[in-house]
Amino acid sequence: MASEIPTTNQRRDLVGLDRINLAAEMAGFGAQPFRARQLWHWIYHRGVTDFSQMTSLSKAFRGRLAEDYELIRPAVTRSLVSADGTRKWLLRFPDGHEVETVYIPEEDRGTLCVSSQVGCTLNCTFCHTGTQLLVRNLTPAEIVAQVMVARDALGEWPLPQADRLPGTPEVATDAHGLNPRTEGPRPGVTNIVLMGMGEPLYNYDNVATAMKIAMDPEGLSISRRKITLSTAGVVPMIRRCGAELAVNLAISLHAVRDEIRNRLVPLNHKYPIAELLDACRNYPGASNARRITFEYVMLKGVNDSPADARELVRLIAGIPAKVNLIPFNPWPGAPYECSTDTAIAAFSDIVFAAGYSAPVRTPRGRDIFAACGQLKSASVRARRSGREPEAVSSP
Ligand code: SAH
Repeated sequence: MASEIPTTNQRRDLVGLDRINLAAEMAGFGAQPFRARQLWHWIYHRGVTDFSQMTSLSKAFRGRLAEDYELIRPAVTRSLVSADGTRKWLLRFPDGHEVETVYIPEEDRGTLCVSSQVGCTLNCTFCHTGTQLLVRNLTPAEIVAQVMVARDALGEWPLPQADRLPGTPEVATDAHGLNPRTEGPRPGVTNIVLMGMGEPLYNYDNVATAMKIAMDPEGLSISRRKITLSTAGVVPMIRRCGAELAVNLAISLHAVRDEIRNRLVPLNHKYPIAELLDACRNYPGASNARRITFEYVMLKGVNDSPADARELVRLIAGIPAKVNLIPFNPWPGAPYECSTDTAIAAFSDIVFAAGYSAPVRTPRGRDIFAACGQLKSASVRARRSGREPEAVSSP
């Protein structure tokens, strides 16, 4: 058990352990079960990274913990804020690999777009992430740490009792709704979308562990109803994901004919459209209250005709579905162009008239290369060429 935990300078990282493994680790350390529960609270509810701040534990025990363990956050090597409020963090892990995490604030929610792999093996031809060479799975710690880094940066962790004045709310805010200790505005992180770099169903076990930690009501406390996993269509894993995790499902469909989808999403050769839609029809937990999202990137002259829209409606008949139209976000050298506004509106109208919600996703954070399909490679390119994306950069 203990040997599975990554080590840095001999001390082991406790972040990323689920409840069972944290309890087992503490049992091996000679601590009683309630100690593991207290630790859980400090790590995942309070977001503490220093054992000395865990004031409900005896000083001696805190000292022993600090000798053997640590609570690691990946290094934030770059932090950007878009003109529209979107934030992007480039995170570096001890082995030098990097991923990006994007925070998208809206009036009533804050969505964190989380990466599941360094790079991606799918090579979808319209996605910039797929042009990267380095690929590896993220560990549960590296996935869950993205949520924790966002909470750190947004100043979202509840203040310890001792720091609070009597009668003040658990998260202290000033007159502008800001946490006075940081610049963080509400709403903070209320939703997670697994739509960052990588294919989450190719790293299912680690994603599942991380999401179970994120869902725990005594920890990060983000309910499964507020978590959406997006897949290009790894059919054999879809059922398991629904049965075990029961998160919302999004499918990167992007085309309605196999011949075109093969070109856009090469994984389609392995799991063609009919099989993918069958898996959606059988997705455990899908209902009118919990619809499956079909993502559809709008590519000029490729997949954006009225006939395509009508075929889409025919294909998804019987599935509790909504359709998310994504204007193509360009990147240097991309072999596609974004559809015209008129074509997107006409497509949306056809889908909407058939009874499906078909919003056009507003591109967010394009100015900091944080929009769909722009992650990571653009940062690398900008740094290599010495050019920075134009945006407010904060440390
Ligand atoms: N591998 C998973 C998770 C990545 S989600 C999946 O494919 O679903 C990233 C989303 O952004 C996907 O829907 C992807 O198709 C979309 N996307 C990728 N490149 C894009 C681009 N250049 N413009 C708009 N959307 C893009």
